[in-house]
Amino acid sequence: MPMNSSKSGVDLILDRGKIWTENPREPEVEAIAIRGKYILAGGSSADIADLKGPNTRVIHLEGRRVVPGFNDAHVHFYYGGASLASVQLRTAKSPQEFRDRIAKFAQTHPKGAWILLGEWDPQAWTPSSLPTHDLIDGVTPDHPVFVNRVDAHTMLANALAMKLAAVDRHTADVPGGVIGRDAQGNPNGIFIDAAKSLIERVIPPPGVPQLAGAILKAQKHAFQFGVTSIQDMAFVGPRARESSGDLFHAYQSLLKRGDLNIRVSLHTPLPQWKKLANLGVEANFGNEILQIGGLKGFSDGSLGSSTAWFLDAYTDDPKNCGGPSDELCDPDDMFANMLGGDKAGLQLAIHAIGDRANRIILDSFEKIERSNGVRDRRFRIEHAQHVQPSDVARFGKLRVIASMQPYHCIDDGRWACGRIGPRRVKEAWAARSLKDAGAVLAFGSDWWVAPIDPLSGIYAAVTRRPIDGSSPGGWVPEQKISVREAVHAYTVGSAYASFQDHVKGSLQAGKFADLAILSKDIFAIDAEEIQETTTDITIVGGEVVYQREGSA
Ligand SMILES: [Zn+2]
Repeated sequence: MPMNSSKSGVDLILDRGKIWTENPREPEVEAIAIRGKYILAGGSSADIADLKGPNTRVIHLEGRRVVPGFNDAHVHFYYGGASLASVQLRTAKSPQEFRDRIAKFAQTHPKGAWILLGEWDPQAWTPSSLPTHDLIDGVTPDHPVFVNRVDAHTMLANALAMKLAAVDRHTADVPGGVIGRDAQGNPNGIFIDAAKSLIERVIPPPGVPQLAGAILKAQKHAFQFGVTSIQDMAFVGPRARESSGDLFHAYQSLLKRGDLNIRVSLHTPLPQWKKLANLGVEANFGNEILQIGGLKGFSDGSLGSSTAWFLDAYTDDPKNCGGPSDELCDPDDMFANMLGGDKAGLQLAIHAIGDRANRIILDSFEKIERSNGVRDRRFRIEHAQHVQPSDVARFGKLRVIASMQPYHCIDDGRWACGRIGPRRVKEAWAARSLKDAGAVLAFGSDWWVAPIDPLSGIYAAVTRRPIDGSSPGGWVPEQKISVREAVHAYTVGSAYASFQDHVKGSLQAGKFADLAILSKDIFAIDAEEIQETTTDITIVGGEVVYQREGSA
């Protein structure tokens, strides 16, 4: 019920809508009143009208659906912003189109400038095949190229990039990685996981101003999709360790300038935990906009690159089980980092895709809890993509957060069965089983390697319909969840995953007024239409940060 208000009234009222609050005591209200950054009250339009004063702005919802602002629990925000301005390869439908887009991009950029990111998708080519450097060398004689497959675990370098990095047939293989080679042993341009570092080390790192510029672009992009909070998993690969300080610096500079409006939880690479611990930083340190204290570690690769670490071999590659990440190549060292980081009060968020990697991390979490004692530590497994049925229950028992990105399920769902076979796909992206086992689901996008749009993620979790139109009834349909469950995972679930559920995730008195006004009622429409739904207005801390043209 509304509280007494001063004579001037509240700052903002959202009226006559269907406002999904995520407050179990009053899940839906017609109107809410906002004072300053916070929600003052929610209720019927008549109740809230009492709080209106002469200076109150009113947004007439006209029956529209409002949800708490989406909190993307797993993004790579700098890459996301940078990729908006880089070559667009995801929608290239053939190797020729892939080459032509790189050629065109090179023509409009100065000689010597690196061509990076890109997100190429060889599964969209017929037949699907990995590109090699000679496909693009002719169109990029003066531009070093290092572009990523959609999963970012596999990269393509051109001849110039390999020359600059002094990589040739004599270059030794890298533990935790793969150098693609031709029959003579010459590198063919493909670099997977830890081998990526061979090229990455010669790419000039972005400076703080460049990082900040990309973050601003990313923020603008996120607001268009109703995203009001992000959890930045930062850089991937060895660059992560060198540049994590610069990224924090870039965020701080934006914060000081008053330009950072999206709420950010920035994760630090696990191997750097001592830097935070020495300062006494613990999980969830910071202010309402910028927080640190989460550690991001890697235990394996990806399914798309066949480097996710499984107990049994890949169905289409019977000698390969995938393998550990470079961090987990030394399991004692990685465990010591996890144990030390946890003991220091920092939060562990570990990437695990294959069932073996998931099991190893669950084992480690168990040992850590035994050793450091029980506390509210909110262990996270990032992706939690393939989990053995016997391990699913352990997520509930250990209260592990399954930080999942449902869009991957409809992207990889096109071809995953060929990689791992019909038995294991039953356990793939098992949102239903994990939730039923008591795991907290926290949803995100993994942007830049997938679209940031949470509505695409919700569509994916609800329909499990692969993006190529195969399995229209859903891919492993028994793992579908409801729209409400998906929204919960994208709001309350992800707020919980960053220790912020006491201040955001739901629309109730005292919490931040972070919300999204949607063009359609995603709880009422056919699931197919969720994909066409857009965000009309995004509000962070009571301020309109995005309004779609033509919407009121
Ligand atoms: Zn990621």
